[in-house]
Amino acid sequence: MSQEVKPTKVLNPATPWTNRPVPGIHVPDAQETLKSSFTEPTVECPECHALTTRTAMSFNAYVCPQCDEHLRMKARERLNWFFDQVDTELGQDFVAKDPLKFVDSKPYTQRMAEAQKKTGETEALVVLQGLLKGLPVTACAFEFDFMGGSMGTVVGDRFVQAAESAIAKKQPLVCFAASGGARMQEGMLSLMQMARTSAAIEKLKAAKLPYIVVLTHPVYGGVTASLAMLGDVHLAEPKAMIGFAGKRVIEQTVREKLDEPFQRAEYLLDHGVVDQIVHRHSLRDTVYRIISKLMNVN
Ligand SMILES: [Zn+2]
Repeated sequence: MSQEVKPTKVLNPATPWTNRPVPGIHVPDAQETLKSSFTEPTVECPECHALTTRTAMSFNAYVCPQCDEHLRMKARERLNWFFDQVDTELGQDFVAKDPLKFVDSKPYTQRMAEAQKKTGETEALVVLQGLLKGLPVTACAFEFDFMGGSMGTVVGDRFVQAAESAIAKKQPLVCFAASGGARMQEGMLSLMQMARTSAAIEKLKAAKLPYIVVLTHPVYGGVTASLAMLGDVHLAEPKAMIGFAGKRVIEQTVREKLDEPFQRAEYLLDHGVVDQIVHRHSLRDTVYRIISKLMNVN
């Protein structure tokens, strides 16, 4: 008794036997292959425009595998990558208020709600405590996609709490800075955070605990003028833009054309603002080495 197999297609005798469909095995056609290659989201490198899948990028710590460009990392993703194990998150109870009832093109509360929806974060600073190669560390990272990583009262609150908790637990503090500066929607109150965070760092130094700053692209304004420039060691990622006022504002003020490497990490390294430029792949090792040296860990 032979079972009848239904042919899937009428075969053209001219088709070579290697290209003939095998019953029961689905061979995707060109359209389907194209469709399936787009199912995984890809990330485009802003430098060389190469497309890399998000998974591959994430495994490579968002460094372009083609040209070595350091793409921006989300704050939480960066801290999860930095730590081997995360124990606690700090500062989630602080909620931003709208003391000035500020409205520019849209109300501050609406802007805030949009930023929260876009990033999945409640504010522009994420603080986590955990282990870096077995060493207990407190680390915070700015979420640049949250209103340009701007420093408002809640960012100040969280940073101060991070410093105080680090002192209480005798842990070093690491800050991954990426910010456009103070948050103008909170006016004077956001500028006060510069003094508050500087005082918190001073307390950390009095307790003889290291404070390491990692400058990532970009760091500007009130954050540069306070917590990002008060570290014991300043590391920077390659090609990060670091400054106080932007290039255009300075050019308009001094009426001079400024060269391209101006405000880049490499330029700042040559001029003594930055201690070392570190490739993201060796950042964890470098931070660990510096901390263990400063804290006499064997
Ligand atoms: Zn690239």
